[in-house]
Amino acid sequence: MNSIKDWLTFAQEERFAIGAFNVANLETLKAVVNAADKLSAPVIIEASPGESTFVGIRQLRYLINAYHEETGLPIFLNLDHSHDVEVTKESIAVGFDLIHFDGSEFDLEENKSALSELVPLAHAHDLVFEGEMDHIQGSSADHRQESLAEMVDTSKYTNPEKAAEFVEETGIDIFAAFFGNVHGVYDEAPKLDFDRLREIREHVSCFLSMHGGSGIADQDVRTAIQVGKISKVNVNSEMRIAFRETLEHELNNTDEIAMYKIMPPVIDAVQKVVEQKIMIFGSEGKAKK
Ligand SMILES: [Zn+2]
Repeated sequence: MNSIKDWLTFAQEERFAIGAFNVANLETLKAVVNAADKLSAPVIIEASPGESTFVGIRQLRYLINAYHEETGLPIFLNLDHSHDVEVTKESIAVGFDLIHFDGSEFDLEENKSALSELVPLAHAHDLVFEGEMDHIQGSSADHRQESLAEMVDTSKYTNPEKAAEFVEETGIDIFAAFFGNVHGVYDEAPKLDFDRLREIREHVSCFLSMHGGSGIADQDVRTAIQVGKISKVNVNSEMRIAFRETLEHELNNTDEIAMYKIMPPVIDAVQKVVEQKIMIFGSEGKAKK
């Protein structure tokens, strides 16, 4: 079992989810690889166009190849929330394993038209393609001072019939469903609409992903994976918060200037978040050789 498609199928059948963790530098990348290695878990390492161009699109691919060769773990690379056709094409050419094109803020025809060009291109390179139709609200940020209730618009949740049509027409492999799973961390945990998720699962034939894996109550994440047979869960904000808070603490308590001495506790803190998520997603031990 080598391909990401095989792994997503396995996850769906076995009712666990593969964590998709955002990285933006070597420290966050190390944190994810360390966690996956410790827990023998398959992982998707992902970067938004902002994150991947910061690290370097080719550089990211090479770094992940190096970690894959060293650990033998199933580590896959995903472009997360690309709104940009050119960055998407470049990532396909460089050989990312998965591509998430987020055209949810375009009008539907524009989104479909971009996908009609990108999906066949990705499939010609044997990549797995994720599409999004209903904008997943919020952002990967610390919203703990903000009220969740004022932000969520339940009328924007995924319509199961429309989602099924969208998947059929575009040929995407993963559908990013929206049923209350907002991006970011808020004053309270988001409430997921499990009835809606169940209906989406009944209508949509492809893999389902759940974005907004930060901030949702652990038990609700587990229930969503079971109810929706979700095979990919995205996590970013909680890792960013752990990174920043630990780095601030370290800098406030040392005069050290050697970066390699400052960063280990920061890596550890992010790794802990990733380990907790892997345990919640049920993917621990799945990559045992
Ligand atoms: Zn997302």
